[in-house]
Amino acid sequence: MTTTTSAPPQALSRVHPDLLIDGTWTPAQSGARFAVENPATGETLAQVADGNADDARRALRTAADRQEAWAATSPRSRSEILYRAYQLIVDRTDEIAAVMTAEMGKPLAEARGEVAYGAEFFRWFAEEAVRIGGDHTITGDGANRIVVSKQPVGPCILITPWNFPLAMGTRKIGPAIAAGCTMVFKPAELTPLTALLLADILIEAGLPDGVLNVVTTTDPGAVVTEWMDSGLARKVSFTGSTEVGKTLLRQAAGTVMRTSMELGGNAPFIVCADADLDRAVDGLMVAKMRNIGQACTAANRIFVHRSVQADFTQRLVDRMSALAVGDGSQDGIQVGPLVEDKAVAKVEGLVDDAITKGATAQCGGARTDGPGHFYPPTVLTDVSIDADLTSTEIFGPVAALIPFGTDDSDDDGLDDVIAMANDTPWGLVGYAFTQDIDRADALSTRLQVGMVGINTGLVSNPAAPFGGIKESGLGREGGRLGIDEFLDIKYVARPINR
Ligand code: NAD
Repeated sequence: MTTTTSAPPQALSRVHPDLLIDGTWTPAQSGARFAVENPATGETLAQVADGNADDARRALRTAADRQEAWAATSPRSRSEILYRAYQLIVDRTDEIAAVMTAEMGKPLAEARGEVAYGAEFFRWFAEEAVRIGGDHTITGDGANRIVVSKQPVGPCILITPWNFPLAMGTRKIGPAIAAGCTMVFKPAELTPLTALLLADILIEAGLPDGVLNVVTTTDPGAVVTEWMDSGLARKVSFTGSTEVGKTLLRQAAGTVMRTSMELGGNAPFIVCADADLDRAVDGLMVAKMRNIGQACTAANRIFVHRSVQADFTQRLVDRMSALAVGDGSQDGIQVGPLVEDKAVAKVEGLVDDAITKGATAQCGGARTDGPGHFYPPTVLTDVSIDADLTSTEIFGPVAALIPFGTDDSDDDGLDDVIAMANDTPWGLVGYAFTQDIDRADALSTRLQVGMVGINTGLVSNPAAPFGGIKESGLGREGGRLGIDEFLDIKYVARPINR
């Protein structure tokens, strides 16, 4: 393992470590600040304003005051702001990626990938802003017009997690701007710096004062409760854990607020007897190792048909044990640290539990000493369906292989594996590898998830409707549906004049 340490990126000097309220960078009223750390080295990167409920109130008041004027701007002007911001993000890829890697840990190549992915939401919604449609019909008796139009929902609360510090923001801010909504935005306390850079880019792109207001805080409950209970916000868009999502849904009931919830996952990854094993291993390396395993879409339970288990395991172990682990800012590093020590302790506990219940670690399997929050790429075989990690998001670089079917490749074991895959309260994404089109169709139809990857380990795309069912969430982000989450429908009845 490489654990070289790096200097903080120059790009940090361009981050405003303050709150953004009404177009002005401002310290928290209390003067409080909190440290943002590099998970690879433990060094402090910045001291960021620690907002409280008073700051939150000012931010939302501003968003509410600006809503009417912002909603009246032309779709074309909003589209152009988004397009300029898209270009600025792309132009500043290296700088943003360096900040993201420093605060979150993902290797630079992946951070650059997230910058491209995150920027693309702005380009996509720049295109959608000018295509907000409506409908026009007439009543059955021919006497009245039914004119249906869409209007911005109003001031929105946006809350994002730490694992995709740029893309989770652009996936919400893009459609909110396109629709004509003002916003209060609370990025995750572990990774606020990328979000602050993003806010600055939007100002440079011409976003009017007060349309986007940003509050960083170590007390998310206090800040967000202030917003949820205010009666001023009309929508909450949240990405994060199911547990916090449920709290927000309860709070949203108080003012019957529109909600979008992108919550946790427990993705099944199914390798059928007839799978192309090279493609299946390639797919798993993406579905498991993207973001060091810290993704809601991460393959959590990997079901492998017994007839291909030995071959698949060997190929996977070869790939996983060859990965270079270390500080993601260094050349050639493929696996960075986990985001904090608590995350390493959680992964460690889940692996120990699986081993106690009969699993074998084919590589990795124990935490790494030294600075930084590292856990090595790990492959566990013969994982029991009763192991805790089958009902918990692992959120780390651990591939848990669970056999299904029999040694006979003619026995596809499909009913059993689908039943196991669906035996979870979550339903975000599922992956399946098979070369049989009927089997692929059955898996696509029967998996209880919002998204299915067939012979691919990556489903995220700005042009696709991302989201889950069951306890993985409500609503969709991206694609043609993404903007509707920020629009209300209004119907006007009008007699027809003949
Ligand atoms: P988290 O729920 O702990 O935090 C998410 C955000 O909620 C953060 O900004 C945090 O400050 C805030 N928060 C925490 N407590 C709050 C409260 N009481 N009220 C209001 N806000 C509060 O999740 P996390 O650890 O940052 O992120 C990991 C989780 O996010 C995983 O469960 C992962 O699956 C999920 N996730 C889902 C998607 C998706 O699109 N479905 C994408 C990325 C991550």
